[in-house]
Amino acid sequence: MKRTPLARSGRIKYKPRKARVGKTGTVRLDAAGMAKLREAVYDRAMGLCEMPRGKRVCGRWAGWLSGQLAHYPKSRGAGAGDTEAETRWSCAACHRTVSD
Ligand SMILES: [Zn+2]
Repeated sequence: MKRTPLARSGRIKYKPRKARVGKTGTVRLDAAGMAKLREAVYDRAMGLCEMPRGKRVCGRWAGWLSGQLAHYPKSRGAGAGDTEAETRWSCAACHRTVSD
């Protein structure tokens, strides 16, 4: 039986992530691309949370530091791409509720 040793030698190497389009045509951006997207979505939202709360939009102030880029209506895991159309600016509270 082959086992993974408990103590690994050396450090875990992470591959640098590159922007790419996935198998299903999902847009995946790299860190620089994400930073740009975050800025674009933040500008669009003017710093206000764009997530729906009941029938309305939350609209709470979510500044650059406290706000988050949420993948909505689909989650990233459900296949949402890193595009302006598939993301919303979100306050921390809203992002927490949709991410579950
Ligand atoms: Zn919100």
